[in-house]
Amino acid sequence: MKIAFFDTKPYDKPSFDKYAMAHGFEIKYFETKLNEDTVELASGYDAVCAFVNDTINAAVIDRMQEFGIGILALRCAGFNNVDMKHAFGRVHVLRVPAYSPYAVAEHTMAMLLTSIRRIHKAYIRTRDFNFSLAGMTGFDLHGKTVGVIGTGRIGRVFIDICRGFGMKVLAYDKYQASGLDNGDTIRYVSLDELFSESDIISLHCSLTEETYHVIDEEAIGKCKRGVVILNTSRGALVDAEALLAGIKSRKVGAACLDVYEEEADFFFEDFSGHILEDDILARLISMPNVIVTSHQAFLTEDALSNIAETTIDNIVHLIGSGQCENEVCFRGGVAEDCKSGKCF
Ligand code: NAD
Repeated sequence: MKIAFFDTKPYDKPSFDKYAMAHGFEIKYFETKLNEDTVELASGYDAVCAFVNDTINAAVIDRMQEFGIGILALRCAGFNNVDMKHAFGRVHVLRVPAYSPYAVAEHTMAMLLTSIRRIHKAYIRTRDFNFSLAGMTGFDLHGKTVGVIGTGRIGRVFIDICRGFGMKVLAYDKYQASGLDNGDTIRYVSLDELFSESDIISLHCSLTEETYHVIDEEAIGKCKRGVVILNTSRGALVDAEALLAGIKSRKVGAACLDVYEEEADFFFEDFSGHILEDDILARLISMPNVIVTSHQAFLTEDALSNIAETTIDNIVHLIGSGQCENEVCFRGGVAEDCKSGKCF
Protein backbone atom coordinates (compact mmCIF):
# COMPACT_ATOMS: atom_id res chain seq x y z
CA MET A 1 0.00 0.00 0.00
CA LYS A 2 1.53 3.29 -1.16
CA ILE A 3 -0.03 6.44 0.28
CA ALA A 4 0.34 9.96 -1.13
CA PHE A 5 0.19 12.26 1.92
CA PHE A 6 -0.67 15.91 1.24
CA ASP A 7 -0.19 19.13 3.23
CA THR A 8 2.50 17.50 5.38
CA LYS A 9 3.88 19.29 8.41
CA PRO A 10 6.92 18.09 10.39
CA TYR A 11 4.73 17.08 13.34
CA ASP A 12 2.74 14.64 11.15
CA LYS A 13 5.61 12.33 10.30
CA PRO A 14 6.67 10.61 13.57
CA SER A 15 3.22 9.21 14.41
CA PHE A 16 2.31 8.31 10.81
CA ASP A 17 5.68 6.62 10.20
CA LYS A 18 5.17 4.54 13.35
CA TYR A 19 1.70 3.23 12.44
CA ALA A 20 2.36 2.90 8.69
CA MET A 21 5.53 0.91 9.31
CA ALA A 22 3.64 -1.48 11.58
CA HIS A 23 1.45 -2.44 8.60
CA GLY A 24 4.17 -2.34 5.94
CA PHE A 25 2.64 0.76 4.31
CA GLU A 26 4.80 3.22 2.42
CA ILE A 27 4.06 6.94 2.75
CA LYS A 28 5.29 9.66 0.43
CA TYR A 29 4.96 13.01 2.19
CA PHE A 30 4.15 16.02 0.00
CA GLU A 31 4.26 19.48 1.55
CA THR A 32 1.86 20.90 -1.00
CA LYS A 33 -1.89 20.98 -0.45
CA LEU A 34 -4.03 18.70 -2.56
CA ASN A 35 -5.99 20.46 -5.30
CA GLU A 36 -6.57 20.28 -9.06
CA ASP A 37 -3.00 21.36 -9.78
CA THR A 38 -1.25 18.99 -7.38
CA VAL A 39 -3.36 15.83 -7.69
CA GLU A 40 -0.95 14.69 -10.44
CA LEU A 41 1.54 13.87 -7.66
CA ALA A 42 -0.80 11.09 -6.52
CA SER A 43 -0.28 9.13 -9.74
CA GLY A 44 1.17 5.71 -8.93
CA TYR A 45 -0.16 5.61 -5.35
CA ASP A 46 -2.96 3.44 -3.94
CA ALA A 47 -4.45 5.92 -1.50
CA VAL A 48 -4.48 9.65 -0.80
CA CYS A 49 -4.27 11.07 2.72
CA ALA A 50 -5.61 14.63 3.05
CA PHE A 51 -6.26 17.26 5.71
CA VAL A 52 -8.67 20.11 6.42
CA ASN A 53 -7.43 22.64 3.88
CA ASP A 54 -6.94 20.29 0.94
CA THR A 55 -9.50 20.72 -1.83
CA ILE A 56 -11.07 17.47 -2.94
CA ASN A 57 -13.51 18.67 -5.58
CA ALA A 58 -14.99 16.80 -8.54
CA ALA A 59 -11.94 17.39 -10.73
CA VAL A 60 -9.57 16.01 -8.06
CA ILE A 61 -11.83 12.98 -7.49
CA ASP A 62 -12.04 12.27 -11.24
CA ARG A 63 -8.25 12.42 -11.55
CA MET A 64 -7.82 10.11 -8.54
CA GLN A 65 -10.19 7.66 -10.20
CA GLU A 66 -8.20 7.82 -13.43
CA PHE A 67 -5.09 6.97 -11.41
CA GLY A 68 -6.93 3.96 -9.93
CA ILE A 69 -6.98 5.46 -6.43
CA GLY A 70 -10.05 4.25 -4.57
CA ILE A 71 -9.28 5.51 -1.06
CA LEU A 72 -9.34 9.05 0.30
CA ALA A 73 -8.19 8.80 3.91
CA LEU A 74 -8.96 12.07 5.66
CA ARG A 75 -6.83 12.57 8.76
CA CYS A 76 -9.46 14.87 10.28
CA ALA A 77 -13.08 14.72 11.40
CA GLY A 78 -14.63 17.27 9.04
CA PHE A 79 -15.25 16.52 5.35
CA ASN A 80 -16.72 19.84 4.19
CA ASN A 81 -13.71 20.19 1.85
CA VAL A 82 -14.73 17.05 -0.06
CA ASP A 83 -17.37 17.02 -2.81
CA MET A 84 -19.12 14.14 -1.12
CA LYS A 85 -21.84 13.86 -3.74
CA HIS A 86 -19.26 13.40 -6.46
CA ALA A 87 -17.10 11.10 -4.34
CA PHE A 88 -19.94 8.63 -3.75
CA GLY A 89 -19.42 5.53 -5.87
CA ARG A 90 -16.03 6.76 -7.06
CA VAL A 91 -13.76 6.84 -4.02
CA HIS A 92 -14.10 5.59 -0.44
CA VAL A 93 -13.92 8.56 1.92
CA LEU A 94 -12.61 7.59 5.35
CA ARG A 95 -12.29 9.99 8.26
CA VAL A 96 -11.15 10.20 11.87
CA PRO A 97 -14.40 11.07 13.65
CA ALA A 98 -12.82 11.58 17.06
CA TYR A 99 -9.19 11.76 18.03
CA SER A 100 -9.24 13.84 21.14
CA PRO A 101 -12.25 15.96 21.95
CA TYR A 102 -10.24 16.96 25.04
CA ALA A 103 -7.53 18.59 22.89
CA VAL A 104 -10.04 20.94 21.22
CA ALA A 105 -12.18 21.58 24.29
CA GLU A 106 -9.13 22.32 26.46
CA HIS A 107 -7.73 24.69 23.82
CA THR A 108 -11.09 26.49 23.76
CA MET A 109 -10.90 27.03 27.51
CA ALA A 110 -7.23 28.03 27.24
CA MET A 111 -8.18 30.73 24.73
CA LEU A 112 -11.08 31.92 26.89
CA LEU A 113 -8.93 32.22 30.01
CA THR A 114 -6.11 33.86 28.08
CA SER A 115 -8.52 36.42 26.71
CA ILE A 116 -10.54 37.35 29.77
CA ARG A 117 -7.54 37.32 32.17
CA ARG A 118 -5.39 39.22 29.61
CA ILE A 119 -2.62 36.59 29.77
CA HIS A 120 -1.58 37.44 26.19
CA LYS A 121 -1.02 41.05 27.27
CA ALA A 122 0.68 40.14 30.56
CA TYR A 123 3.13 37.79 28.83
CA ILE A 124 4.40 40.55 26.57
CA ARG A 125 4.30 43.22 29.29
CA THR A 126 6.36 41.34 31.89
CA ARG A 127 8.94 40.29 29.27
CA ASP A 128 9.54 44.03 28.93
CA PHE A 129 9.81 44.33 32.75
CA ASN A 130 6.56 46.28 32.73
CA PHE A 131 4.79 45.13 35.89
CA SER A 132 1.88 47.57 35.68
CA LEU A 133 -1.62 46.09 36.05
CA ALA A 134 -3.39 48.92 34.23
CA GLY A 135 -5.95 47.54 31.77
CA MET A 136 -5.57 43.98 33.05
CA THR A 137 -8.90 43.65 34.89
CA GLY A 138 -10.70 40.46 33.93
CA PHE A 139 -13.85 38.76 35.22
CA ASP A 140 -14.68 35.52 37.05
CA LEU A 141 -16.05 32.64 35.02
CA HIS A 142 -17.81 31.27 38.10
CA GLY A 143 -21.53 32.03 37.91
CA LYS A 144 -21.38 33.22 34.29
CA THR A 145 -23.54 31.71 31.55
CA VAL A 146 -21.92 29.99 28.61
CA GLY A 147 -23.92 29.23 25.47
CA VAL A 148 -22.67 26.10 23.72
CA ILE A 149 -23.83 25.61 20.13
CA GLY A 150 -23.26 21.97 19.19
CA THR A 151 -23.29 19.34 21.93
CA GLY A 152 -21.40 16.59 20.12
CA ARG A 153 -18.16 15.08 21.36
CA ILE A 154 -16.20 18.32 21.76
CA GLY A 155 -19.14 20.44 22.90
CA ARG A 156 -19.92 18.01 25.72
CA VAL A 157 -16.29 17.94 26.95
CA PHE A 158 -16.29 21.74 26.87
CA ILE A 159 -19.51 21.76 28.89
CA ASP A 160 -17.84 19.50 31.51
CA ILE A 161 -14.91 21.89 31.73
CA CYS A 162 -17.23 24.90 32.08
CA ARG A 163 -19.18 23.13 34.82
CA GLY A 164 -15.87 22.64 36.63
CA PHE A 165 -15.59 26.41 36.69
CA GLY A 166 -19.09 26.75 38.15
CA MET A 167 -20.63 28.17 35.00
CA LYS A 168 -24.26 27.79 33.91
CA VAL A 169 -24.69 26.18 30.50
CA LEU A 170 -27.27 26.99 27.84
CA ALA A 171 -27.00 24.50 25.00
CA TYR A 172 -28.33 24.38 21.46
CA ASP A 173 -28.13 21.48 19.04
CA LYS A 174 -30.33 20.34 16.18
CA TYR A 175 -30.05 16.83 17.61
CA GLN A 176 -30.05 17.05 21.42
CA ALA A 177 -27.89 14.66 23.44
CA SER A 178 -30.04 12.59 25.78
CA GLY A 179 -29.36 12.98 29.48
CA LEU A 180 -27.40 16.23 29.12
CA ASP A 181 -30.14 18.69 30.08
CA ASN A 182 -30.52 18.58 33.88
CA GLY A 183 -33.18 21.28 33.92
CA ASP A 184 -30.96 23.46 36.07
CA THR A 185 -27.27 24.13 35.38
CA ILE A 186 -27.36 22.68 31.86
CA ARG A 187 -30.41 23.45 29.73
CA TYR A 188 -31.21 23.11 26.04
CA VAL A 189 -32.74 26.37 24.82
CA SER A 190 -33.59 28.02 21.51
CA LEU A 191 -30.83 29.79 19.62
CA ASP A 192 -32.50 33.13 20.37
CA GLU A 193 -32.49 32.47 24.12
CA LEU A 194 -28.89 31.28 23.95
CA PHE A 195 -27.89 34.50 22.17
CA SER A 196 -29.73 36.81 24.54
CA GLU A 197 -28.75 35.11 27.84
CA SER A 198 -25.11 34.03 27.32
CA ASP A 199 -22.06 35.91 28.57
CA ILE A 200 -19.86 33.64 26.48
CA ILE A 201 -20.81 31.74 23.30
CA SER A 202 -18.76 28.77 22.12
CA LEU A 203 -19.26 27.08 18.75
CA HIS A 204 -18.89 23.30 18.56
CA CYS A 205 -21.39 22.36 15.84
CA SER A 206 -20.65 20.96 12.41
CA LEU A 207 -20.51 23.33 9.46
CA THR A 208 -23.61 22.78 7.34
CA GLU A 209 -25.85 24.96 5.18
CA GLU A 210 -27.93 25.59 8.31
CA THR A 211 -25.02 26.57 10.54
CA TYR A 212 -23.16 28.65 7.93
CA HIS A 213 -22.68 32.13 9.49
CA VAL A 214 -24.70 31.13 12.55
CA ILE A 215 -22.92 34.09 14.13
CA ASP A 216 -23.82 36.96 11.82
CA GLU A 217 -24.93 40.56 12.24
CA GLU A 218 -28.45 39.54 13.28
CA ALA A 219 -27.18 37.02 15.85
CA ILE A 220 -24.69 39.49 17.30
CA GLY A 221 -27.51 42.02 17.53
CA LYS A 222 -29.39 39.62 19.83
CA CYS A 223 -26.38 39.04 22.12
CA LYS A 224 -25.57 40.68 25.45
CA ARG A 225 -23.27 43.68 25.25
CA GLY A 226 -19.73 42.45 25.93
CA VAL A 227 -20.39 38.85 24.83
CA VAL A 228 -17.26 36.73 24.32
CA ILE A 229 -17.35 34.60 21.17
CA LEU A 230 -15.26 31.43 20.87
CA ASN A 231 -14.86 29.50 17.64
CA THR A 232 -12.68 26.40 17.56
CA SER A 233 -15.05 24.58 15.20
CA ARG A 234 -15.14 25.80 11.58
CA GLY A 235 -14.40 29.30 10.29
CA ALA A 236 -17.53 29.73 8.20
CA LEU A 237 -19.74 29.43 11.28
CA VAL A 238 -18.86 33.08 11.87
CA ASP A 239 -19.37 35.99 9.49
CA ALA A 240 -15.97 37.56 10.18
CA GLU A 241 -17.01 40.96 8.80
CA ALA A 242 -20.00 41.06 11.17
CA LEU A 243 -17.76 39.96 14.04
CA LEU A 244 -15.30 42.75 13.27
CA ALA A 245 -18.17 45.26 13.22
CA GLY A 246 -19.36 43.87 16.57
CA ILE A 247 -15.88 44.29 18.05
CA LYS A 248 -15.61 47.85 16.74
CA SER A 249 -19.03 48.80 18.11
CA ARG A 250 -18.03 47.27 21.52
CA LYS A 251 -21.04 44.92 21.32
CA VAL A 252 -18.66 41.97 21.25
CA GLY A 253 -16.35 42.12 24.27
CA ALA A 254 -13.79 39.61 22.97
CA ALA A 255 -13.34 36.90 20.38
CA CYS A 256 -11.13 33.82 20.36
CA LEU A 257 -10.77 32.20 16.96
CA ASP A 258 -8.89 29.02 16.14
CA VAL A 259 -10.56 28.89 12.74
CA TYR A 260 -11.35 31.48 10.08
CA GLU A 261 -13.50 31.24 6.97
CA GLU A 262 -10.64 32.06 4.60
CA GLU A 263 -8.01 30.21 6.64
CA ALA A 264 -6.99 27.89 3.79
CA ASP A 265 -5.02 30.79 2.26
CA PHE A 266 -2.99 31.45 5.41
CA PHE A 267 -3.22 29.01 8.31
CA PHE A 268 -0.39 26.51 8.88
CA GLU A 269 2.03 28.73 6.87
CA ASP A 270 4.57 31.40 7.87
CA PHE A 271 3.49 34.80 6.53
CA SER A 272 5.64 36.80 8.96
CA GLY A 273 7.69 38.31 6.14
CA HIS A 274 4.69 39.19 3.99
CA ILE A 275 1.94 41.76 3.83
CA LEU A 276 -1.28 40.01 4.80
CA GLU A 277 -3.75 40.41 1.93
CA ASP A 278 -6.84 39.66 4.02
CA ASP A 279 -7.92 42.98 5.57
CA ILE A 280 -10.56 41.43 7.81
CA LEU A 281 -8.15 38.91 9.31
CA ALA A 282 -5.42 41.55 9.71
CA ARG A 283 -7.85 43.93 11.44
CA LEU A 284 -9.18 41.20 13.73
CA ILE A 285 -5.64 40.21 14.74
CA SER A 286 -4.80 43.86 15.43
CA MET A 287 -7.57 44.09 18.05
CA PRO A 288 -6.47 43.84 21.69
CA ASN A 289 -9.49 41.71 22.56
CA VAL A 290 -9.16 39.19 19.72
CA ILE A 291 -6.98 36.11 19.97
CA VAL A 292 -6.31 34.07 16.85
CA THR A 293 -4.59 30.69 16.78
CA SER A 294 -4.11 28.97 13.45
CA HIS A 295 -6.28 25.84 13.66
CA GLN A 296 -4.14 24.57 16.49
CA ALA A 297 -6.78 23.23 18.86
CA PHE A 298 -6.27 19.61 17.80
CA LEU A 299 -2.48 19.77 18.13
CA THR A 300 -1.55 17.61 21.09
CA GLU A 301 0.71 14.56 21.12
CA ASP A 302 -2.25 12.44 22.20
CA ALA A 303 -4.42 13.66 19.32
CA LEU A 304 -1.65 13.27 16.70
CA SER A 305 -1.05 9.69 17.78
CA ASN A 306 -4.80 8.89 17.72
CA ILE A 307 -5.17 10.52 14.29
CA ALA A 308 -2.33 8.45 12.77
CA GLU A 309 -3.53 5.21 14.35
CA THR A 310 -7.15 5.66 13.19
CA THR A 311 -6.21 6.86 9.69
CA ILE A 312 -3.99 3.81 9.10
CA ASP A 313 -6.50 1.44 10.77
CA ASN A 314 -9.25 2.81 8.50
CA ILE A 315 -7.23 1.84 5.42
CA VAL A 316 -6.32 -1.55 6.92
CA HIS A 317 -10.00 -2.34 7.57
CA LEU A 318 -11.15 -1.18 4.15
CA ILE A 319 -8.60 -3.18 2.20
CA GLY A 320 -8.91 -6.17 4.55
CA SER A 321 -12.70 -6.53 4.69
CA GLY A 322 -14.04 -4.02 2.16
CA GLN A 323 -15.69 -2.23 5.08
CA CYS A 324 -14.74 0.57 7.40
CA GLU A 325 -16.87 1.98 10.21
CA ASN A 326 -15.36 5.41 9.63
CA GLU A 327 -16.44 5.64 6.02
CA VAL A 328 -18.55 8.65 5.07
CA CYS A 329 -21.05 8.21 2.29
CA PHE A 330 -23.57 10.29 0.45
CA ARG A 331 -27.04 8.85 0.47
CA GLY A 332 -30.43 10.52 0.29
CA GLY A 333 -28.88 13.91 -0.38
CA VAL A 334 -26.71 14.08 2.74
CA ALA A 335 -23.16 13.10 3.56
CA GLU A 336 -23.00 11.09 6.75
CA ASP A 337 -21.28 8.19 8.45
CA CYS A 338 -21.93 5.00 6.53
CA LYS A 339 -24.59 3.08 8.43
CA SER A 340 -24.32 -0.12 6.41
CA GLY A 341 -20.57 -0.42 6.83
CA LYS A 342 -20.29 -0.83 3.06
CA CYS A 343 -20.81 2.21 0.90
CA PHE A 344 -20.42 0.89 -2.62
P1 NAD B 1 -19.64 16.00 16.51
O1 NAD B 1 -20.14 15.46 15.21
O2 NAD B 1 -19.47 15.07 17.66
O3 NAD B 1 -20.60 17.20 17.00
C1 NAD B 1 -21.14 18.13 16.12
C2 NAD B 1 -22.47 18.55 16.67
O4 NAD B 1 -23.05 19.54 15.79
C3 NAD B 1 -23.50 17.39 16.75
O5 NAD B 1 -24.01 17.25 18.04
C4 NAD B 1 -24.57 17.81 15.76
O6 NAD B 1 -25.87 17.36 16.14
C5 NAD B 1 -24.43 19.32 15.82
N1 NAD B 1 -25.15 19.96 14.72
C6 NAD B 1 -25.30 19.53 13.44
N2 NAD B 1 -26.10 20.38 12.77
C7 NAD B 1 -26.43 21.36 13.64
C8 NAD B 1 -27.24 22.52 13.54
N3 NAD B 1 -27.86 22.84 12.40
N4 NAD B 1 -27.36 23.31 14.63
C9 NAD B 1 -26.74 22.99 15.80
N5 NAD B 1 -25.98 21.90 15.95
C10 NAD B 1 -25.83 21.10 14.88
O7 NAD B 1 -18.30 16.76 16.17
P2 NAD B 1 -17.11 17.15 17.15
O8 NAD B 1 -16.06 16.10 17.07
O9 NAD B 1 -17.65 17.54 18.46
O10 NAD B 1 -16.53 18.43 16.38
C11 NAD B 1 -17.19 19.68 16.47
C12 NAD B 1 -16.55 20.66 15.50
O11 NAD B 1 -15.18 20.88 15.85
C13 NAD B 1 -16.55 20.19 14.04
O12 NAD B 1 -16.97 21.28 13.22
C14 NAD B 1 -15.11 19.90 13.76
O13 NAD B 1 -14.81 20.11 12.41
C15 NAD B 1 -14.40 20.89 14.68
N6 NAD B 1 -13.03 20.51 15.01
C16 NAD B 1 -12.08 21.48 15.11
C17 NAD B 1 -10.77 21.13 15.44
C18 NAD B 1 -9.68 22.17 15.58
O14 NAD B 1 -8.50 21.82 15.61
N7 NAD B 1 -10.01 23.45 15.70
C19 NAD B 1 -10.44 19.80 15.63
C20 NAD B 1 -11.44 18.83 15.54
C21 NAD B 1 -12.74 19.20 15.24
